[in-house]
Amino acid sequence: MKILLVEDEAPIREVIKRGLEEDGVYTVDTAEDGRVGLDLACDKDYVLIILDLMLPGIDGWTICEQLRNRRVNTPILMLTARDTVRDRVRGLELGADDYLPKPFDFDELLARVRALIRRDKLSKGKVIRIGHLEMDTIAHRVLCDGKEVALTSREFSLLEALAVNEGRVMSRDAIQYRVWNNEDSLSNTVDVYIRMLRRKIDADRPVKLIHTVHGLGYMLKRPDEESS
Ligand code: CA
Repeated sequence: MKILLVEDEAPIREVIKRGLEEDGVYTVDTAEDGRVGLDLACDKDYVLIILDLMLPGIDGWTICEQLRNRRVNTPILMLTARDTVRDRVRGLELGADDYLPKPFDFDELLARVRALIRRDKLSKGKVIRIGHLEMDTIAHRVLCDGKEVALTSREFSLLEALAVNEGRVMSRDAIQYRVWNNEDSLSNTVDVYIRMLRRKIDADRPVKLIHTVHGLGYMLKRPDEESS
């Protein structure tokens, strides 16, 4: 699980990164500068963002606000030396999920990190039903008209990305970021995977769910009779 840590103080950064990576389940990307942190948070898929408040570039509040405005809903744990109720309320209002004043105990940080990730998984872990499709995002199961369909993990991620954004067009770039984490891949990878997915999800069905939006990308759409 990938975590982003935005913190300008090197000793704190080192302690958190080393501690979390020792736990074995996490890998930690770090940024010392607010702007770099914001770019990383927008471009990559993290399970959690640990965000210091006072940063060079842009501060933690602004990062938080901009991420939420851009619909990046990754949980955010804010760190700050300033422990006042006003700061805390402001952080939460701007979309932070939790708040940890410095200095803190590493064990407490770890407990909060685990709790936030667990909470986020639970809230996302619901069954998505669109037309003939039923997707269980925890069990990683896909049913079409009640019959199980075997998908590879990439196909599943792609379908999940489209389903979560149901009714909204996703560009090839956005899909690429989300499903391939921006790893190098051939330019037509997305199209190839869409084709495979269509074969498994939409072939032989009177109403198609996956639509090509010419010049823009792809969209998973609820059949019309259900949209009202
Ligand atoms: Ca700082």
